[in-house]
Amino acid sequence: MSSTIYGTPVVQGVSYAPAAWFRRPCLPSESAPPLPPHLREDEVSRFLACAGSVSDGFFDKASRATGDAADVLIVSASLATDRAWTKEVSTRIRAGIPAIQAVIAATDRFATRFETAGGIMAERTADLRDVRDRVIAHLQGVPEPGIPDLGRPFILLADDLSPADTAGLDPSSCLGIATELGGPTSHTSIISRQLGIPCVVAARRLGEIADGEPVLFDATVGTLETGVDEAEAGRRVAADRERAETIARWRGPARTLDGVRVRLAANIQDPASSAAAAAAGVAEGVGLARTELTFLSAQVEPSVDEQVGVYSAMLDPWDGQRVVIRTLDAGSDKPVPYATLRDEPNPALGVRGLRTSGPYPTVLHHQLDALAIAAAAHPQVQTSVMAPMVSTLAEAEWFASLVRERNEELGSRMLAGIMIEVPSAAILIDQFVECVDFVSVGTNDLAQYTMAVDRQSADLAEYSDPWQPAPLALMRRVLSACAAAGTPCGVCGEAASDPVLACVLVGWGASSLSMPVGAIPAVGAMLGRVTMDECRCAGEALIGARDAGEGRYRARAALGLVPAP
Ligand code: PEP
Ligand code: MG
Repeated sequence: MSSTIYGTPVVQGVSYAPAAWFRRPCLPSESAPPLPPHLREDEVSRFLACAGSVSDGFFDKASRATGDAADVLIVSASLATDRAWTKEVSTRIRAGIPAIQAVIAATDRFATRFETAGGIMAERTADLRDVRDRVIAHLQGVPEPGIPDLGRPFILLADDLSPADTAGLDPSSCLGIATELGGPTSHTSIISRQLGIPCVVAARRLGEIADGEPVLFDATVGTLETGVDEAEAGRRVAADRERAETIARWRGPARTLDGVRVRLAANIQDPASSAAAAAAGVAEGVGLARTELTFLSAQVEPSVDEQVGVYSAMLDPWDGQRVVIRTLDAGSDKPVPYATLRDEPNPALGVRGLRTSGPYPTVLHHQLDALAIAAAAHPQVQTSVMAPMVSTLAEAEWFASLVRERNEELGSRMLAGIMIEVPSAAILIDQFVECVDFVSVGTNDLAQYTMAVDRQSADLAEYSDPWQPAPLALMRRVLSACAAAGTPCGVCGEAASDPVLACVLVGWGASSLSMPVGAIPAVGAMLGRVTMDECRCAGEALIGARDAGEGRYRARAALGLVPAP
């Protein structure tokens, strides 16, 4: 019987192979009868031989690894034969404690010392425990815990993985990694990105898959399917290979299969990234310039002249295109020193974005002056400015009036927009669209504030998944209201760079999508495979999904990428 388990996709790719569970050690009881005196020296020798074998195993893996991975393995190899640790274990054995219990007790003592020392020493604790588990396995005469060696390709399943667990992974045999825990920023995710191994995290029902069971692993959508016909699995793997080849060949501008143009723009953060985005040759202008990232280390506010220089350099590469510059989104996760309150108890819900105009009343005025001067000097660029963290109608009206005043005074023709990233603005979108020239949906914060979850929390990454039904319902509401009112509405949060979600957003009425420039070809290639009608159907199919995973699957099915559920 077939069954599908959903998780959060981290590194894209599709593969089909048997599941192999990461072996966790089974630690015996910490107490055991004392060893008779005549057996103690033999037990010390047995322990030292086992520790030596573990160390040799690490050195062997290190010789086949490179870079950071090799370094991690060499550290573990040295820990296994560390003189202080082996002496501590041996002393306990000589006092009558059996080797396994002596290893457990000595490791606990060292781990406490490492943790007390803090810093890099504390980070060694996980490595020392890993050494402990391997030495114990040798003492017990069972295989070392860790990555199974099946002699053929496999999909690795685990509750979670440490750097030492994953350091020796070979992408030619490990075709995918799925974990029950973790999030997009956990170690598993970082290492799988580095190794280019398709990866899904936070797959809560992973335990339902048995060791050796063939799994169709789709890290593009975040699913693990069992009971799939082998021929069907082969077709899905081949289709994914074709998808990767199409992306590599893609050149803009983006249009759907039936010819509807969708503007795909770049997210930038300073003049250098603006130049790099233009040089990549795939972006149609800039959809989000995060100015706070330009000034993240500025202790004092840059003068208006300095700011004119920075914004002009951002605009320079984009003649004939549109560039959307966001005013400072200072505060919370982006603390710009000259515009951020210190010691706020709850900064994500505090004075950030447009709200900083309260305690720092002149900063926004200076920034808008500089933007207007730079825009007036670049008449070939359609410069637009937008405010972050708008939550009331009065804020939106005030911001738009400031931009329009500059246009009159300084001869610029800037469009005035707002970001929709706070639920209050999404709920009352019909009123907000009346007072601005355009709207851009910030899906990262919209998910954070709708789900009441810190977007930086790796433990709660599932909640800030943009496929969560509640933030999606608000995105749909905003896009439909803007389409009905004829107000251009783009999306500039991470959701826009998910190729399938991009189709959904276009189906709901998004006129532009902005993302890191590297994500543009995948989104453009996907849009080129589907019609507007299919995009609309994908948007409809999401309604009623019970969670992010189901929504992802339903949208893909509506686009004909996977069989209907
Ligand atoms: C967002 O919140 O989606 C967004 C684009 O803004 P930032 O990620 O910079 O907060
Ligand atoms: Mg935001």
